[in-house]
Parts: sequence; structure tokens; C-alpha cells
Amino acid sequence: MTKSLGTGAARLHLALCIPLLVLLAAGLAWSRSAAMVLIMVLGVTALAVGPKRLLADEDQRAPWRHIRYAAYLFVIATVIRALVPSTMATPPTTMALIPNAFVVPAYLYLGWAYSGMLRRRRAAEDDPARIDALLVGLAGAFLTWTFVIAPAIDDSGMTVMRVLDAFFPIIDVVLLVLVAQLLLAGGARQPALWLLVVASTAMFVGDLLFTLRDAEMISVSQHVVDVLFAVMFVALPAAAVHPSMRTLTQPQNIVVRDLGRVRLAVIATVMVVPTVVATLMPLGSLGNNLVRALLCALVVVAVLVRVVRSNNSRVRAERASRRRATHDALTDLPNRELLAETVAGWAGRAEEEGLEISLLFIDLDRFKMINDHWGHRVGDELLCEVAARLGGQVRTQDIVARIGGDEFVVALASPSHLRLADSLAERLLVELARPFRLSVGDVTLSASIGVAKSYGGAHALELIRDADTAMYKAKGSGRNAVALFDTSLREQIRDRVKLEQALRGAARRGELAVHFQPIVDVRTGELDGFEALMRWNSAELGFVRPDEFIPIAEETGMIVEMGAWLLRESVRQLLEWRAERGPGARPLHVSVNVAVRQLRDGNLVTIVDQLLRDTGLDPSCLWLEITESGVMADIETALITLNALDALGVTLCIDDFGTGYSSLSYLHRLPVGIVKIDRSFISRIGADGPDEPIVRAVLAMTHAMGHRVVAEGVETQDQRDWLHGQGCDLIQGWYYGKADRPENLTHWISPQKVATA
Ligand code: C2E
Ligand code: CA
Ligand code: CA
Repeated sequence: MTKSLGTGAARLHLALCIPLLVLLAAGLAWSRSAAMVLIMVLGVTALAVGPKRLLADEDQRAPWRHIRYAAYLFVIATVIRALVPSTMATPPTTMALIPNAFVVPAYLYLGWAYSGMLRRRRAAEDDPARIDALLVGLAGAFLTWTFVIAPAIDDSGMTVMRVLDAFFPIIDVVLLVLVAQLLLAGGARQPALWLLVVASTAMFVGDLLFTLRDAEMISVSQHVVDVLFAVMFVALPAAAVHPSMRTLTQPQNIVVRDLGRVRLAVIATVMVVPTVVATLMPLGSLGNNLVRALLCALVVVAVLVRVVRSNNSRVRAERASRRRATHDALTDLPNRELLAETVAGWAGRAEEEGLEISLLFIDLDRFKMINDHWGHRVGDELLCEVAARLGGQVRTQDIVARIGGDEFVVALASPSHLRLADSLAERLLVELARPFRLSVGDVTLSASIGVAKSYGGAHALELIRDADTAMYKAKGSGRNAVALFDTSLREQIRDRVKLEQALRGAARRGELAVHFQPIVDVRTGELDGFEALMRWNSAELGFVRPDEFIPIAEETGMIVEMGAWLLRESVRQLLEWRAERGPGARPLHVSVNVAVRQLRDGNLVTIVDQLLRDTGLDPSCLWLEITESGVMADIETALITLNALDALGVTLCIDDFGTGYSSLSYLHRLPVGIVKIDRSFISRIGADGPDEPIVRAVLAMTHAMGHRVVAEGVETQDQRDWLHGQGCDLIQGWYYGKADRPENLTHWISPQKVATA
């Protein structure tokens, strides 16, 4: 079963039914009954099929189910009327109660269905549609009273039949009010909605004529009433099979508008007609006139309320749009504009009142990771929680603003001797380090805070920027820290920006080079391979240390491209050397550093794979060095890449081992072959250095796991000898040689070379 219907179904339904309606209106007695039967069969079918096909959601089908029940009840009543003619006598007798016992619940079902639709379309709380619909209803009630109910009561007193007759136009009015509300409440006004309007109007007019005829006020043939009833029975099912019926039970985006011209006209009519009628109609009994006066008064009051509400909602809309311009939509905190405005206001009085204006620029550490890992919804949740925590720590006169994704600013003005900002910053660090209870569980996070102060004079935006600068310093010092702005920071930032600019395009300008540092087999003294280390000789800045430019390349993502170049260049050089040494010599390896950013990039595996294919290098001779902390920062993502690299056959090394999490327990989860003990440990060994037990333990454990060990930063004979004694496999360090350009390393390449030391 296809879960859909095109507009064709509704068109087909109308195409079948309209000729039947014509037949019913014009035809002979027998054809009339036949037409009526067909219309009802088609109608019930459409009501059964349409909602099932068009609506997937059980809840949205509910109102249509009620309409279907109403249709069944109408059918039963019609059949009874056809089979038992005495139920149709004019004026009606008590026999009429039998079909009406079905018709009354049918009406109630319709009312239930319409109000169900209304609730699902969820008109905005202050949508004027309710009042407008009420207005229409009041006017209808007024007219019904004046022309139908009151005269009936006046001529012949009240009977059950009369009351019942009056019931129909009244419930019709209620139904009309509900449909009018659907219509007036904004949102999509689709064919299905218009069909409902047609159905309800036909019903209202039909019942009105029926009642008037019963009251012997007019003479209409039953036939006209039947046709109107049939129109309802065509229009409702047609709505049920039209695809736009979905909008009837779906939440609509309601735009509260000012009074439009059409609405104004409707309101005016609704107000004028009862007033005019009330004035022109001859007076009836006292009770009759009192009810008429009351209804008329209600219309006037409703119009007044409507006008006042409409004006209020405009004021509210203006207020809301002003708030949108000055507040962040997610957290409802002031935004950068309002922050700057407020701080500028404080600055005006800072000097004379001896105030210190402090700005705390708060940036969440690794917020992006949370966003990437759990999605934006959780990210948003976290931001709202952070906003609440910040708000809980400040005084009422302070400002907490959100000025960017995960960037908040707290601004305060206080007498300078209090030094409130400093203690607040420390408090916020502690506050933000407490776990956040989110829908996905507890999330822990830290923040970096930059503080800038002014005693008047400084421009608000400048102050925000200074606090931002200080925040960068806090991040640089290892996160979860507070840093105070001072002017030297501005220079540091300027230097950094300059460096970043210069680094862009360094590769293209041929400013990058690779130096190689030998890695030696301790036992034999033979060369095992080289570590490739990147060098940058900037045309503008001169020689820049890797410690300075590598972090910037990582942060900006430039490392991805630079790293790809380095891999290619390193392998090219290695193959050149291996060719020089000839096939019989010990096969050399090259060890290349890979930054976390490259691991995450996703292209690394492809690049390495392509490189191995292009060069035909034995994969195990390409070593890739990954730092311990880089892997641990996001071990799941790292593992995917590492396993893929392992599958290519390359050798993976844990670099700077011992400086990061220092946890051996995760080592066996990683597909590594080599562990490089960080040089900070090596510098404290030999001659009973303090780190000897640690290095001994690391060697024992890594060997037990089957990894080979490289000791980095070996500078002295003592260190070498000690490591040799402990069974360390490979050694790298100044003791054997510094990293150098390839042309200065030729003495390492000749295969006979064995270190003399
Ligand atoms: P690293 O990976 O730990 O590289 C070893 C560093 O120790 C190198 O510094 C090397 O010159 C230095 N070194 C080697 N032997 C000794 C010694 O006996 N004593 C002392 N004191 N130092 C020694 P370098 O070349 O300045 O590189 C610094 C860091 O920059 C590297 O640390 C690495 O993290 C990073 N780096 C260098 N090149 C690259 C690269 O191409 N890609 C990536 N991602 N990072 C690189
Ligand atoms: Ca390294
Ligand atoms: Ca290292």
C-alpha cells in the first residue's frame, strides 16, 4: 500500500459526486434516493481511506476518526428517515426523536473533531482568531435567537421538539465558530480547510431552513434541505482525501498580524448587523428583548477586546523584536551589542566614581569535541547550563553575555580595591569544572578565562578584545586557567598573527625543508633509520623553531598539507639513500611525525596508501610517530585511523612516551610497534639519575608487550651505556648526531658504517 494520495483522489471524488448532487437537486424521486445513497457510500469510503493513506501518525488521525463516526451516525439517521416516513412529519412529532437520537451525537462528534484539529494546529496563545471566531459565533447566536428561537417560543411555547430544533442551529453556530477559528488562525489555508468551511456552511444553512420550516415561518421543500445535507456529505469526505488535509492536524507557524482589511470588514459586519437588527426589529416579549440586548452587548464587548488585544500584540511583537536584536536566542543572555552598550555606559562614570570595569572572557575548552561527538542539540543543552551556572555566580548588577558559539563574557563594575574580578574568575573555573548533568549523561569540561580591566577611558569593544587576547594566553598555558591581560600580550598576538601569515604559503615558496636525525641500533651501533623533522626558514622571519610553528600549523589546519608534503619528501629521500646503499645493506626506515590534526583529517590513510603504491616502499619501513596525548584526546577516532594505517603495514610509534597520560594500560589497545621514551626521562638517567627506575619499568613493560623501544634525546656516553645495559633497542640523540640536512648525512649512509663509540 502506498502511503500517499495525490490531489487526484479529491478531484475524482468531486467529479463523481457533483453530478450526483446535480441529479439530487433536479432529479425524480427514485434518482434522488439513488444519488443520496451513492453520495453516502462514496463519502464513507473516502473518510475511511483518506486519513489512513495521508496520515502516518495515529494521533493526527483521531479527529478524522471522529468525523467518520459522525458520518456513520448521519447515515443511520438518514436510513431511518427514509424507512419510517412518520419521523419526517411537518410539524414534527415525537417520532422525529428517533433519527435525532443519532443526529445529535453526530454533531457532537463533529464538534470534537474540529476542536481536535484546532488543538493540533496549535494556534498561538494570543492569536486573535479565538476572539474573531467568538465574534462570528455571537453574531450567529444573535441572529438565530432573533429569527428562530424567540419567535418559536413566542408563538407556541416551549416543547421538547422546539428545544431540539433550536439545538441544531446553535450547535451549527458552535461548529462554525470552530471552523472559523481554523480559518482565521493563520497557517496554511489549503483546499481541505475550504472544503470544511463549505461543509459547515451548508450544514448551518440547511439546519436553519429546517428549523424555520418546522416553525412554519417559511416554506421550503425538504428537498432543498436534503441537497444542503448532501453538499456537506460531499465536501467533508473530499477534504479527507485531499493531501492538504495534513495541515489541519499539523502545528502551523502562526504569524500574528495586524488587522487585515478583510478581517476588519468581517468585524464591522458582525458588529453592525446585530445592532441594526436590534434597532429595526419590532419589540417582542420582555425576556426575548433582554436576551437580544445581552447578545448585542456581548458582540460590542468582544469587538472592544479584539481591538485592544490586537494593539497589545503589536506592542509585544515590537518588544520581542527589540529583544532579539539585543539578546542571544539560545540562552536569552545579552549579546555582544548589548554588552558593548552597557560597558560603554559604565565607562562614562568609571573615572569619577573610582570604578574598575572588568571583563571576563570565558571560552569553553574542547567544546567543539562535545558538539561533534553528541551533536548540536547536546551542545546547545550544555551552553544553556553554562549560562545558568555563570548567572548563578554574579551579582544582579553584573552582566553575563554570550558573544559567540562557546564564548561568554561576564562584565562587572566595582570599586577598584575590591578586586572582585579576580576571585570571580577563579570561582567560575571551579564552577565550570563541576560535571554537567545533560540528557546524554554527565559531561565534564573546563574553561579558559581571560580578564581585562579598565578604569575608564578604554573603548568597550577594545576591552572585549583585550579579554579575548588574555583568554588565548590562558588556553596556551594549558587550559582550565585564568590569565590577566597586559599590553605585552598584544605584541605576542601580533607576532603570532605575523607568523601565521608567513607560514601560509611557506611550502609553496619552498621555505620548508626536512632534516633527518639518525636512529641507531644500540647493540650493533648500526644505523637503523632516521626521524624526519620539519624545518622552516622563512624569507621574512628567518629560521623559526618547530616548537613555534608546528602548533600554529596544527591549530590552523595547515599541518595537513605540510604533513602530506613532508611524508612524500621523507620517503623520496629514504628511497634515494636505500638505492645508494644497494640491496644487500640493512634496510633503513624513516620515521615521520604525524599531528593529531592529521589523524582526524581522514585523508591521512589515503595519502599514505597512495604514497606506498607510488613508491613501492616496504610499508614497515615507514614509521609514523603519534604522541601519546594526541591519541588519548579522542581515542575512539584515533583508533579507527590507527587500525587503518596498521592494515596498510606501516609501523606506528608512540612518541614522547611518559609525558601524557603515562598509562601503560591503553598501550595494548593500540596497534603500535615502537615506543619512544621521552627525552625528559633520558636526561635524568646514567650515574644513578632519578628517572632510572621509571625507564627500567617502561622498558620491561613495553618489551613484555612485544614493542621495540627508542630512547630519545640521548646526549652522553653514560646514558647510552646505561640504556644498552637495560636492553633498550634503539637510540636517537645528539650523542650520535643532530638532525641535519640530507647532504650532511652522507657519512651515515655507507653500509659499512658502524658507530665507533
Ligand atoms: P619530537 O617529535 O619529540 O622530536 C624530537 C626533538 O628532539 C627534535 O626537536 C630533535 O631535534 C630534538 N632532539 C633530538 N635529539 C636530541 C638531544 O639529544 N637533545 C635534545 N635536547 N634534543 C634532541 P625539533 O626538531 O626542534 O622538533 C621539536 C618538535 O616539533 C618535535 O618533537 C615534534 O613534536 C615537532 N615536529 C618537528 N617536525 C615535525 C613534523 O614534521 N610534523 C609534526 N607534526 N611535528 C614535528
Ligand atoms: Ca617525534
Ligand atoms: Ca619525541
